[in-house]
Amino acid sequence: MADIQTDVVIVGAGPAGLGAALYTARDRYQTVILDKFVPGGQINLTDRIENYPGITRISGPDLVSTLKEQVSSFGAQIKTSAEVTHLEQRDNNVIAVTTEEDVYLARVAILAPGSDYRHLGVPGEDKFRRAGTGVSYCGTCDAPFFRDKHVITVGGGNVAVEDTIHLSKYCRKITMIHRRQEFRATKVLVEELLEEAKKGIIDIRYDTVLDSINGTDKVESATLKNVKTEQTEDLPCDGVFIFVGMIPNTGFLKDTIALDANGFIQCDPEFLRTRMPGVFVAGDCRVGAAMQLATAIADGVAAAMFMKEYLRDPSWWNKGICLKAMGWS
Ligand SMILES: Cc1cc2nc3c(=O)[nH]c(=O)nc-3n(C[C@H](O)[C@H](O)[C@H](O)COP(=O)(O)OP(=O)(O)OC[C@H]3O[C@@H](n4cnc5c(N)ncnc54)[C@H](O)[C@@H]3O)c2cc1C
Repeated sequence: MADIQTDVVIVGAGPAGLGAALYTARDRYQTVILDKFVPGGQINLTDRIENYPGITRISGPDLVSTLKEQVSSFGAQIKTSAEVTHLEQRDNNVIAVTTEEDVYLARVAILAPGSDYRHLGVPGEDKFRRAGTGVSYCGTCDAPFFRDKHVITVGGGNVAVEDTIHLSKYCRKITMIHRRQEFRATKVLVEELLEEAKKGIIDIRYDTVLDSINGTDKVESATLKNVKTEQTEDLPCDGVFIFVGMIPNTGFLKDTIALDANGFIQCDPEFLRTRMPGVFVAGDCRVGAAMQLATAIADGVAAAMFMKEYLRDPSWWNKGICLKAMGWS
């Protein structure tokens, strides 16, 4: 195992990590980006992005390819198949980032390992998700592709309620299913949902679960089951939106970095500092993330900018109103 010295190590080459690297490398900091797979992260999985400001429409892989080229052109090194397994602070504020093969010793680390959508694991989910033919996990991202269609939404939390309301601006009909009798979402959101449902587009089915998603080349129907009566129904539809939570890729940090109860990295929202001096966070893995491409990139850029404050004066780490409000300073 070799020790490699560098200025900045970025964990994760998704939009947040690449956004950060563009700025750090362009600022002439020696930058290494480590990714357990290939660059791009989740956005690689979609062929239609319509909500990245300034670009009317682009596929995920095309955007990633441009970003990767742009980042590399300023000298950032992207290491693939380099899963980070450990991170710790050593003497003199050095951050040690460990992969199977090497230990990177950096002045600053930016954590951007992202999150994965939680899957239901029902038959048909994987088939139509991979093909991009009717299973989605993001209403904000994909609503316009279901204009005038009938979709099923699954879930009972804030995202499920918010995204169902958002989808109702596009879809002809939405059947929202929830396995319990009451929603977990905040009261004010539930009230808004029930108000929207009165308009006739959203039909809410309580005590109902999804048994399977069916079709040949695209989603054609979904089998729903009432958990109280055990009755099943094959409901024709054009798509299924699954909103059952996110799983942050932060398992490797659990002994060293403060995480919330769901595993998201805690940070001060003002400067994206974690509780370990010299370690910033960016993108979908952090508490309060908006889970969007534009906000992940923006986080990466912000972390790269604030990093300079810390390098100029390490005592900056413990300053600021947000830190005080969180009881960290
Ligand atoms: C199918 C799909 C469609 C989407 N469509 C849109 C859209 O149209 N518009 C929009 O705004 N958003 C969309 N999103 C959401 C958007 O992709 C995410 O918000 C964004 O990718 C988050 O970026 P990130 O860099 O924080 O994390 P990620 O994209 O998840 O990237 C994290 C990277 O870290 C790597 N990694 C994880 N753990 C480790 C480790 N231990 N060591 C090394 N590397 C690690 C991963 O391999 C990955 O490459 C979509 C998401 C999906 C799945």
